[in-house]
Amino acid sequence: MFRRSRDQEPPPAPCTVARPARGPRGMGLRARPSGLGARLRSILAARDAPSDLVWDEVEEALIAADVGPATTLELVDAARRRLASGTGQAGGGVREALAEEVRDRLERAGSGVFELGPSPSVILFVGVNGTGKTTSLAKLAARLRNEGHSLVLAAGDTFRAAAIEQLRIWGERVDVPVVAQRAGADAGAVAFDALEMAQSRGLDAVLVDTAGRLQNKVQLMAELAKIRRVIERRLPGQPRHVLLVLDASTGQNGLAQAEGFSREAGVTGIVLTKLDGSAKGGVAVGIADRLGVPILFAGVGEELEDLAPFDPSAYVDWLFAA
Ligand code: GDP
Ligand code: MG
Repeated sequence: MFRRSRDQEPPPAPCTVARPARGPRGMGLRARPSGLGARLRSILAARDAPSDLVWDEVEEALIAADVGPATTLELVDAARRRLASGTGQAGGGVREALAEEVRDRLERAGSGVFELGPSPSVILFVGVNGTGKTTSLAKLAARLRNEGHSLVLAAGDTFRAAAIEQLRIWGERVDVPVVAQRAGADAGAVAFDALEMAQSRGLDAVLVDTAGRLQNKVQLMAELAKIRRVIERRLPGQPRHVLLVLDASTGQNGLAQAEGFSREAGVTGIVLTKLDGSAKGGVAVGIADRLGVPILFAGVGEELEDLAPFDPSAYVDWLFAA
């Protein structure tokens, strides 16, 4: 049940996760264009002051990139105002005005600064099945582990035996202990055991996996609420983070599903996964508006190192790169 990490005492460590592993900017996305930039370039090529028709095409391009209809209208209005107030006229100006607008919005919502806080810090991962909860949890564990933090993982997705096994395997790869019980066990009890272990061993953080699907949504939300209560009772002020994992490739539908979670599970930040596999990727633009919480991390592949702190500037460069 409890498996001991092979390591001894971790060195003292900083309490924030800093820059992405693949260089100071870029989030590992540079090599894979989003598609939006090229489309805008062809719409805007060789035109001076954009006509209403051109703006309509810009709107279509943003919607096709999964920016979402309401956010698209706001962006286009804001970009038109920016241009009317005197800056650039040519096609490049439109792209720049849109990019500025998106960057401002994302920066207002907060960037990928993630603080662990006082030990033990509890981080709960929630979201629909298949979005990448377990993988993202393992990736974050690897990052924190590399920074010298001591951790325990809690296999709180007790709905399927395979989910428990998956977390065990990640735990082995990252070399951190995994607290688990059999399939069908009470997820709150698993979280409780993990908190006890963290306290008795003086660990820095507890990363709790959860189910993405139960018999129905009401039961799932009740289970998440119960896990929260167990954590709050045992450790007032925790969980420090409730991270909603959202699959970028599911676009606006995924975002609609995520709204339910966000309201009911007390979400504090977003992990936006599969940005690498998405030809669109514009879904990030409307997240802060729709969910009211910042994007903290981006998932850009299936390997442990494929998680980067979300960098609004790098994201905008990628989204609009032609
Ligand atoms: P969960 O059901 O929410 O726990 O989802 P999993 O963590 O099991 O992930 C579902 C699938 O998505 C797995 O095949 C992962 O390898 C894959 N996945 C997760 N994150 C990413 C990502 O950022 N990029 C890509 N390409 N695949 C991902
Ligand atoms: Mg899972």
